[in-house]
Amino acid sequence: MDGNEQETGAKARILLVEDNHMNSRLTEFVLERDGYAVEIVTTGEDALVAARENKPDLILMDIQLPGMDGLEATRILKQDPQTASVPIVAITAHAMRGDEERIIAAGCEGYIPKPINTWKLGETLSRYLQD
Ligand code: MN
Repeated sequence: MDGNEQETGAKARILLVEDNHMNSRLTEFVLERDGYAVEIVTTGEDALVAARENKPDLILMDIQLPGMDGLEATRILKQDPQTASVPIVAITAHAMRGDEERIIAAGCEGYIPKPINTWKLGETLSRYLQD
């Protein structure tokens, strides 16, 4: 059993919220290579539905999304008792001063910068899954 598997032997399930197709293809490839099961949605609105229905083990949330952005989706998920305990890791292209504070204030457990480090992503997420 490797570090990404749970006690049941099931793969940890990641809900990936990403509107850019090339980014989501690459991230899905990396996560599946590292032993995760991946569901992809492209909007914050769809993320709310998928999180409630499918109860992922972790949500990887792009911040810049059309319509509802990733921070707003995070606030709603963290206020909903059905989804509040699911760790949310933000992915952001513009890690500017003040962004980390806004991301943590919205309820994310952490964030990773774009472009993602394809060699460290799985290991980074495994730390949030252990909590
Ligand atoms: Mn985006």
